[in-house]
Amino acid sequence: MEIRAWVHEEARELPVLADVDVLVCGGGPAGTAAAIASARSGSKTLLLERHGFLGGMATAGLVVPHWDSHQNGGVNADVIDRLGSRGGWGAEGWKISFDPELWKHVSEDLVLDSGSDLLYHTFVVGTLRAGRAVKGVVIETKSGRFAVLARVVVDCTGDGDVAARAGAHFEKGRDDGLMQPMTTMFRLGGVTWVQRRNAELRDLIEQAIERTGDEYRLPYDYPWAIHLPNPGEVAVMLVHVRDVDGTDVRDLTRAEIDGRRQTLAVVDFLRRHVAEFADAHLIETAPQVGVRETRRITGEYVLTGDDVASGRSFEDAVATVSFPADIHEPAGTGQVGFRVGSGPVRRGRYDIPYRALIPRDIDQLVVAGRCISGTFEAHASYRVKGPCMAMGQAAGVAASLSASSGVAPRDLAVRDLRRALLEQNVKLDTDSTDVRDWRWETVENDPTYRPDRGTMRQLSAYHGPG
Ligand SMILES: Cc1cc2nc3c(=O)[nH]c(=O)nc-3n(C[C@H](O)[C@H](O)[C@H](O)COP(=O)(O)OP(=O)(O)OC[C@H]3O[C@@H](n4cnc5c(N)ncnc54)[C@H](O)[C@@H]3O)c2cc1C
Repeated sequence: MEIRAWVHEEARELPVLADVDVLVCGGGPAGTAAAIASARSGSKTLLLERHGFLGGMATAGLVVPHWDSHQNGGVNADVIDRLGSRGGWGAEGWKISFDPELWKHVSEDLVLDSGSDLLYHTFVVGTLRAGRAVKGVVIETKSGRFAVLARVVVDCTGDGDVAARAGAHFEKGRDDGLMQPMTTMFRLGGVTWVQRRNAELRDLIEQAIERTGDEYRLPYDYPWAIHLPNPGEVAVMLVHVRDVDGTDVRDLTRAEIDGRRQTLAVVDFLRRHVAEFADAHLIETAPQVGVRETRRITGEYVLTGDDVASGRSFEDAVATVSFPADIHEPAGTGQVGFRVGSGPVRRGRYDIPYRALIPRDIDQLVVAGRCISGTFEAHASYRVKGPCMAMGQAAGVAASLSASSGVAPRDLAVRDLRRALLEQNVKLDTDSTDVRDWRWETVENDPTYRPDRGTMRQLSAYHGPG
């Protein structure tokens, strides 16, 4: 974003709104789990969220499949159980889709039941530091600007806002700086057709274009209509906005406008020309554009594409992932990637090491969710919600252990952390995965895999959006 002028902002005293053991910033899948885990560990915990509801991409982004959700147990399992008991889990063709409206209620109930405090409509805009250590954050709210102090801060903003404001080193995008496209998800009613194959919706649209000569053009080759628990409702992953940065407010604005325009255009096309959507109506576009990737905070360990492809395990594992590296091409309409275990060691999962949650150059800060330390390729795999929640739970427990013991997060004994996670019903070292259980056999091994992006295999046989 181009800035042409600067003004001086007066220094001022800030009122302290709260002083807690553990402060969690961002209430998406990672932050929700972090707050619950920290409070359940006995720490005085506060969760800050800029929206008026929890869920992040699960709710604000209408991203309804919860990939890799079963294998990690813990808060993932609690959310699934509560959604299931209220009829909000699983749908025709989609065992792992959920009702996003119920996700708001369920995650909020779990946070409040855990004893964590919660503040909505609160934007984290800065950090308070003493040397390398984060001592708290600065927030903007309708009530004004405040400081919140904490023994340990957990950054679950997805974008790594807290870490970046604290001066942590980070990377964005692939070598040329481009990031995965953004997607405005939208919800349709009146659809009974069930998509079973990756290219099925694309083929319906391409055939209709051929038949009618319509000028509509698909922005992405593998769109999905994902059924929700409510009969006849689908969330559609089709819109793609490229060359945008989710940490740039002008790009975000452009993406929101373009995303809604793309939505209206395709809904109009589907209703007019595709029989399977003749009775469809647009219920809503997602409250915010879906951002797949932004900052990756450089940590004590940087996860790589090779770690993903080889199904690597780590002594300090705090979560497991089996979802493939799924890259929506930054400059094309395709999807590339590779599966877990397609490298020299065949294994259907890999571990997230605790060190990837610890920023290399900032203290008293733990990051969790899609902004942890990894390469462009590795991020394309661990970015899905199940691992993000599991990382959040690990970060929350670690922050609590650190706050109560006075030991810095980077110096914690990982044995103690893993024991505490097991006590919270987290499954470490499990081989059960969502992907293998119901989509895995459709992906063939590719012996030509190389971790540089130019030679990654096309995921044409892979079923499922991300
Ligand atoms: C279009 C799309 C499709 C996807 N498909 C799938 C899929 O099929 N299955 C799957 O499992 N995953 C999917 N993903 C990935 C997944 O949804 C996200 O990567 C995941 O939600 C990340 O979780 P998170 O908690 O790290 O971040 P987020 O979900 O982004 O949550 C971050 C939270 O922090 C809040 N926040 C941000 N900045 C601030 C701030 N400064 N102050 C206060 N609050 C702040 C946000 O409002 C938000 O609530 C998809 C993502 C996209 C965009």
